[in-house]
Amino acid sequence: MPIRLLAPDIAAKIAAGEVIERPASVVKELVENSLDAGATDITVEITNGGMDTIRVTDNGSGIAEDEVELAFHRFATSKVSSVSDLDAINTLGFRGEALASIAAVADVDLTTRTVDASGGTRVSVRNGEVQDKEPYAAAPGTTFSVKKLFHDFPVRLKFLKTPAAESSRVETVMSRFALAYPEVRVRLAADGKERLTTSGSGRLKEAFAEVYSAEIAGQMLELEPNQSRPGGPQCTGLVGTPAATRANRAYITFFVNRRWVQSRVLGVALEQAYHGFLKERRYPIAVVNVIVPPEHLDVNVHPAKSEVRFRYESAAFSAVQQAVRSALNVSSPVHEVTLPSSGIPVQTQTIERTETFWPTKLPPPHAETIRQDTQPIAEHQQRPVQSVQTQSVQTPRDTLPSLRVLGQVQNTYVVAEGPQGMYLVDQHAAHERVLFERVIAQGKTRTAEVQALLEPLVLELDPRRYELLSQHVDVLTGMGFLLEEFGANAFLVRGVPGVMGGEDPKSGLTDVLDLMADGGGFESWEERAAYSIACHSAIRAGKILSHSEMEELARQLAACEQPHTCPHGRPPMVHLSASHLEREFGRR
Ligand code: ADP
Ligand code: MG
Repeated sequence: MPIRLLAPDIAAKIAAGEVIERPASVVKELVENSLDAGATDITVEITNGGMDTIRVTDNGSGIAEDEVELAFHRFATSKVSSVSDLDAINTLGFRGEALASIAAVADVDLTTRTVDASGGTRVSVRNGEVQDKEPYAAAPGTTFSVKKLFHDFPVRLKFLKTPAAESSRVETVMSRFALAYPEVRVRLAADGKERLTTSGSGRLKEAFAEVYSAEIAGQMLELEPNQSRPGGPQCTGLVGTPAATRANRAYITFFVNRRWVQSRVLGVALEQAYHGFLKERRYPIAVVNVIVPPEHLDVNVHPAKSEVRFRYESAAFSAVQQAVRSALNVSSPVHEVTLPSSGIPVQTQTIERTETFWPTKLPPPHAETIRQDTQPIAEHQQRPVQSVQTQSVQTPRDTLPSLRVLGQVQNTYVVAEGPQGMYLVDQHAAHERVLFERVIAQGKTRTAEVQALLEPLVLELDPRRYELLSQHVDVLTGMGFLLEEFGANAFLVRGVPGVMGGEDPKSGLTDVLDLMADGGGFESWEERAAYSIACHSAIRAGKILSHSEMEELARQLAACEQPHTCPHGRPPMVHLSASHLEREFGRR
């Protein structure tokens, strides 16, 4: 499409706003233009944090000689021509604003050549006016040189940080492009030093390794397209194994149709998918691209185009959550163990296991469980984390080898031996897992064990708890509570779930309600309720267990669908492998 001025009615519909705040915004707009022009090779060079020069060179379509002036007009674009085009935007740019905005606050030199032109064109743009247009020998593509950014705008200049800080913002922007466009060769040099180079191989994992490191890339799991929703939003990308976490959200990157976005909704979806896998205040590493039909997306809501509005937000939400959850289900590691010993650095070992956190089906019958459990850990489960690519085989059920209980440590951990070495089982976390699965399974089959009370109890509740209980009384009934409404703000309790034991049923139910209220991050109220009942009822740390109680716990844990995960995200057990022990004792 040729470059044209947008008609005033379209221009009025565009979320106008000053897009150029700092060097990184110039880089973002220019590189977006290069990508829209189909470039496969983009080089960005900056000096002094971009405050002196920003040069962007691409091998894209180039600008026709007779359109060069127009390109610098406000609302001149080749990407949108009618109001309806705004409803389905396929390009990164669409407002025709960026070049005009940049030329208004900096000196710009442009060299460009289309493939079919015999030669190139060069112009200087000063104070927004195109000058000195001349033929210029150039390869097909475009180079923008932006100099003296904000030179005549001291107030803007004052808002800029140090050159190093501005430079690092540019690097962040470039990293996002590198991750969104792995098929494009992206280079960034700052003051002559290479800061980022990608190969443009088209493989996201490679681009990821180039942006972060090969080591982190080795811990990433690939998101698979969801076959069950062919028309719906799809996700591609990489997410870290639960072993690869960070203390903040800086390693989480979202794209929608390959446009970098900030999105609370997608962030919540991601973190919910990790719920139970990560400890508190740990965050995943993730690069997720959500693909939706352009007509289901409004990209015209933010001046920097960094926010989008989904037409079907909940579909995007569940697409992310499901894609991430199923990647995690395929593989997540048993907790690693480090032992301080005799001043010699201990090698940590992480064993990769296939694992699903939420039971998707009922626990298998016992006989089958025992048969599975006595099998040694499969070969592929022993590879170190770096070999995540080999984890493509989905095992529906995680397995725990049968354990021989040896004793209890600190009245909290059960020590056991298995075919692969030694296990320390956290009695509370393990029991919580067991009860959680049992309550879910009984709820699904409507076979909840109920412990009927000899005399019904009246439970008076504050309005908040009353509201919660009224809303979810069916869920709790399905899990073994016998409840009746009893006037304003009160319930009659006639029975409690069998797993809750003989403790005070009133405070038990209150506890469960509080846990349910806090249990954010769980997908459904069923899971919240099951988790709350399990958490309340599980054996506490500090309780002395008899040998037979410990054996029973180990047996029940082995019968779980996901024995390696506790609903809190703490590991129910740590494993010291036989080879780890051998190394520790210098036998190998
Ligand atoms: P927008 O990207 O919203 O269209 P811009 O002001 O960023 O607006 O760019 C104006 C026009 O200039 C674009 O529509 C495009 O036709 C042309 N253009 C800008 N940069 C390039 C480039 N690197 N290669 C080819 N054409 C470009
Ligand atoms: Mg643009």
